[in-house]
Amino acid sequence: MKVTAIKGFSDIFPGEVETWQWVEEQARRVFAAYNFAEIRIPVLEKTELFSRSIGETTDIVEKEMYTFEDRDRRSTETTEATKLTLRPEGTAGVVRAYVESEMYKVEPVRKLYYMGPMFRRERPQKGRMRQFHQIGAEALGRGDPFIDAEILLLLSDFLGALGLTEPSLQINSLGCAECRPQYRETLLTFLRQRRESLCDNCQRRIERNPLRALDCKEPGCIHATKEAPAIIDSLCAVCREHFATVQRLLSETQVRFALNPRMVRGLDYYCRTTFEWTSDQLGSQSAVAAGGRYDGLVEALGGPPIPGVGFAMGVERLTMLLRMKDSGAPRGPSVYVVWIGEKAREWAFPAVHRLRREGLTVEMEGETRSMKSQMRRADKLGAQAVLIVGDDELQKGHALLRDMASKQQEAIALAEIVAKLTARKAS
Ligand code: ATP
Ligand code: MG
Repeated sequence: MKVTAIKGFSDIFPGEVETWQWVEEQARRVFAAYNFAEIRIPVLEKTELFSRSIGETTDIVEKEMYTFEDRDRRSTETTEATKLTLRPEGTAGVVRAYVESEMYKVEPVRKLYYMGPMFRRERPQKGRMRQFHQIGAEALGRGDPFIDAEILLLLSDFLGALGLTEPSLQINSLGCAECRPQYRETLLTFLRQRRESLCDNCQRRIERNPLRALDCKEPGCIHATKEAPAIIDSLCAVCREHFATVQRLLSETQVRFALNPRMVRGLDYYCRTTFEWTSDQLGSQSAVAAGGRYDGLVEALGGPPIPGVGFAMGVERLTMLLRMKDSGAPRGPSVYVVWIGEKAREWAFPAVHRLRREGLTVEMEGETRSMKSQMRRADKLGAQAVLIVGDDELQKGHALLRDMASKQQEAIALAEIVAKLTARKAS
């Protein structure tokens, strides 16, 4: 019997993985330019890390986490502490690591990024997986609006580096501990009057977390909350000023954005600036990247009151967009070596080795085959050039180099092959 992969978990095969590597390379390059350093955190954490940070009444914590009991728990430990969860997102783990290692004692301002798999038990569909991948960044230790804008510029530069100009930016402010409670009351009054139109899930949690109703994707809830009071109308003076500066900085740096007063994000830890980059080309799973400010999170996880701002983007959705525009497409080997006859094979084997050591991607035919079928294979692999050697050519001291795009063919002296092909690669 065949053993299959788990629903919502997928393999990333050669052919596709090159696009992933390219996306990761561009991310590393742009992160480095903004002075972000990589942090690698565990995939598994204590469940309470997520329930305390993301929030008990969020979709993620209520129903999407992969949680299990660790086997060798000691009887003295409480049940909660023995439960482990596959990380559904990266921010909680990064902040846990920052607090636990007391990184802030050396230097409170830390700019960190991560990449890797996340796990959420959602209904799998296009652009929505149970194991998916995020690239994310967190800037800890700065509460000023300039760093919010810096993060958005970084994202804008990154999407630009991928050649993705279509995703658009929406921003909102969620206020702070000063002004959000009052907004919460205003919203709650509004929602109570429309209770019957809300989905069961929202009805159940409006008293504890009314903002969730604005993030709900049920058509009934979207309709019922159309006229809901907007949080930006309830901001305190400090939050208003912060948000105005973020907008000014974005305008000055030519980053286009739209205000979306309904955007509250699915995680409870956000405050002030929140944002989402979305693409119309992705259907209903339109969010490519999302994030915001989370000033209370470090303290909630046992650290000092240190502010933070960050984002995460979905690599599956990014590569889907790249596939649609067919850029960053994987390329075949730079040279495919076609050989005819055993002597040619004996010559080709060490020659291929030398070329590979020069950094060229080289493949050679593995079996005795006709020239025609070897050429067909080179074509199928997308080789940029084919080097043809036969016993005849060997005797004459040269090989034929065929450019697969221009179909031009030239004879090259055997002694000059390495130099010629490396020069070709560099040009
Ligand atoms: P959505 O509204 O699509 O559910 P989200 O608000 O839950 O997204 P975040 O938690 O902010 O998403 O995660 C940041 C990014 O990670 C998203 O913008 C998206 O690109 C990606 N992402 C989130 N969940 C999934 C998933 N189940 N499968 C694939 N990508 C995902
Ligand atoms: Mg979600």
